Amino acid sequence: MPFESEIIPLQAVNDAVTKAHGIRLFVLRTDLNHPDFSGNKLFKLKYNLLEAQKLGKKTLLTFGGAFSNHIAASAAAGKKYGFKTIGIIRGEEYPELNPTLQFAKRCRMRLHYVSRSLYRNKTELYEYVEQQFSAENYYLIPEGGSNEFGVTGCKEITEHINMDFDYVCTPCGTGATMAGIVMSLKQNQNAVGFQILKAKGYIQKEVSQWINKFGESSAADLDDSEMFSPAGNWNINENYHFGGYAKVNKELAVFIKQFELENNIPLDFIYTGKMMFGIYDLIGKGFFKKGRTIIAIHTGGLQGNSGFSFRSLIHE
Ligand SMILES: *Cc1c(COP(=O)(O)O)cnc(C)c1O
Repeated sequence: MPFESEIIPLQAVNDAVTKAHGIRLFVLRTDLNHPDFSGNKLFKLKYNLLEAQKLGKKTLLTFGGAFSNHIAASAAAGKKYGFKTIGIIRGEEYPELNPTLQFAKRCRMRLHYVSRSLYRNKTELYEYVEQQFSAENYYLIPEGGSNEFGVTGCKEITEHINMDFDYVCTPCGTGATMAGIVMSLKQNQNAVGFQILKAKGYIQKEVSQWINKFGESSAADLDDSEMFSPAGNWNINENYHFGGYAKVNKELAVFIKQFELENNIPLDFIYTGKMMFGIYDLIGKGFFKKGRTIIAIHTGGLQGNSGFSFRSLIHE
């Protein structure tokens, strides 16, 4: 099965800002994992696919918006590892498929559209899906792959950082990736999550809940107490969401372009661009002390960039 012994590049960033502040910055390029399904979604899918396989399921059913990185990753992973896939897509069907959904379709994902109001109510949505697709004997993966198996997979992200570091930074949508990272920290390592939704305290709460859940359920077989991070070595920064999910202004767009030109690392507008903007702003403000090593997780999402111009032109 998937994902073993992948080498994920750790790319050094040496530019005027990092030099001026004496910061060592590296980007863990999980976006380069695989040409079709990359980034944190791969880590979140790993144990879900293994579980589906264990249960003898032939079909994966999952959920997402029309531009969802998770939909794209699930479609590709299903194709590669021999699962049929069903994507429950939020919102109405447009006559012209956007690039994300075109890709999903090429991977033979069956797309099924539901109204935004039904999508919002998860109990109703799951009941509806069960009625529609019970004959498929599917394995259900929640939106974003953010269940316990998803968090477990994200604990493996830091295993790919083969150097000492002081801070690891990641963008946060549901907080599952951050929770996995936090639970994998060793002493003297810190994590900073960048919340990309405008919802005060949301990720802080989600991550805390995941940590509690894992702490309770796996305490018995825990032999490495270092695995569970001491309180106080992680925090969520809510200052760089730019007004909310998928909201972008000129300053952010200019930063993303400039960063790519200078460092040859493309960023997406929804997640990694906001994180990196935040990291640079915090470096400028002296949040990270001189001589510290920061690892920024490039969680992927680049497939969404082609859809981004599409979205602004057609849908909104
Ligand atoms: C889904 C996604 C995230 C958010 O991950 P969560 O585990 O939901 O917090 C971050 N970056 C990218 C590129 C994503 O696609």
